Amino acid sequence: MTFEELGLSPEVLQAVTDAGYKEPTPIQAQSIPYVLMGRDILGSAQTGTGKTASFVLPMIDILAAGRAKARMPRSLIIEPTRELAQQVAKNFETYGKYNKLSMALLIGGESFGPQMQKLDRGVDVLIATPGRLLDHFERGGILLNDVKILVIDEADRMLDMGFIPDVEKIASIIPKIRQTLFFSATFPPEVKRLADAFLMNPKEIAVSAPSSTADTVDAFMVRTSAREKRDVLRAVIASEAVQNALIFCNRKRDVDVLATSLRKHGFKAAGLHGDMAQAQRTSTLQSFRDGEINLLVATDVAGRGIDIRGLSHVFNFDVPFHAEDYIHRIGRTGRAGQSGRAITLVTSDDGKFLDAIQHLIKKPIALLTAPVITDPTPATDDTVAETASESPVPATEVIATEAPVEAPRAARGRTRNDNRRDHRVDNRRPARSRTPEKTEEPSTAPVAVEASPEPTRAPREREARPSHQRDNRDNRDGNDRKVVGLGDHVPAFLQKPVPFPRTGTE
Ligand code: AMP
Repeated sequence: MTFEELGLSPEVLQAVTDAGYKEPTPIQAQSIPYVLMGRDILGSAQTGTGKTASFVLPMIDILAAGRAKARMPRSLIIEPTRELAQQVAKNFETYGKYNKLSMALLIGGESFGPQMQKLDRGVDVLIATPGRLLDHFERGGILLNDVKILVIDEADRMLDMGFIPDVEKIASIIPKIRQTLFFSATFPPEVKRLADAFLMNPKEIAVSAPSSTADTVDAFMVRTSAREKRDVLRAVIASEAVQNALIFCNRKRDVDVLATSLRKHGFKAAGLHGDMAQAQRTSTLQSFRDGEINLLVATDVAGRGIDIRGLSHVFNFDVPFHAEDYIHRIGRTGRAGQSGRAITLVTSDDGKFLDAIQHLIKKPIALLTAPVITDPTPATDDTVAETASESPVPATEVIATEAPVEAPRAARGRTRNDNRRDHRVDNRRPARSRTPEKTEEPSTAPVAVEASPEPTRAPREREARPSHQRDNRDNRDGNDRKVVGLGDHVPAFLQKPVPFPRTGTE
């Protein structure tokens, strides 16, 4: 299949050639002809499959005819995060360079003024995060009556970040007669419900994640027990020449606990997951890019959009529940011809998931002998960490109050003496918690793997939190405005800006 066979215009084909693409990816080959026909699309695909071009390329051709009126965009693309929205905007610039389409990017954390000026001039393509789009709508700065194409991208991530009510609201104020392109990597029940509600006779396209791992990644596993996981991870990190690494956990709360624990042991670590405010996620990612931290602990969904060049390692603190996630996780390293190492911690309870991974990649994962643990976790550390994971206080608050034991330093070059020093430092510290010490689960206890098939998804964790913490509006797009005591659905008129003195960005 070639791009020429897909029915795209010469302008778009030239832009694709300029981008150096030789042939369409499977999702592009399958979806572009249907998008050009005006069909709704239900796409099961994740970042890295060429999904963005699968909707951007045909949209450019569809929108090439016609003109936008002031404040009335002709198409709307909703993205869960600022970074993804910016990425899509870049795609429009790259592929639309021979067309004269106007575009606006409405994302949080930036001033309203320039965004409103762009809207006033009329835009063909509007790319937005849900919170900022609704803010503009409620201020009367935008009319969505002329939207003919709606793209809902990364729907499962929207769910994870609590944006579904906003997305529903947006869909309700857009004309019913429209073309809708809906993409998600996974389809938990809430996402399925949304797809059913939004799409009309969609063309269903499923693109599986690649079923092989790159030759540039050396993959290993280390056997451990649930009890010793954190100790073993630290020992593995100390024994490897880690420059920068992503560490994947299956659950959001474990991300917080592990990042806190690593910091306590002197590593430059931070966590990244969907419950964090956008501003906090952006600054964490930037710190990782800048090398201020070199260990980023993340969930699959949060880790999905991360494209960091030259990542030396990926660690799977938990064996992923879905075999495809393993390929996706370890594919973060060994990019662009560089070599990388991926090391997975495996407990006796992970057998079924490990088998599924090895079946998918059609080869066994080499066993690495576990390095000697030189700094076993002191009881005080576990008390803090376990308390953090079970406390009703949100885990992010635990992070905020957690001071590092000593000035953080790079994981690279840590010697066994360093580790012993850490141990001594930790042992000298007074007990950190006055709560009764929790005994660790015995190593034979099942890891909570069986707890939930979709552990990183929001609803369970969201339900477990008080409603004021669940308010999706309090952390959308980095606007940390909280409305306490009104439940999840705050009437729109209460959300309207009050005449506070203006800050620089609002
Ligand atoms: P996406 O899944 O849209 O995030 O795209 C992942 C990466 O694949 C991006 O860096 C794109 O530039 C690149 N890409 C998209 N389509 C193609 C193609 N047909 N051939 C080669 N690379 C592509």
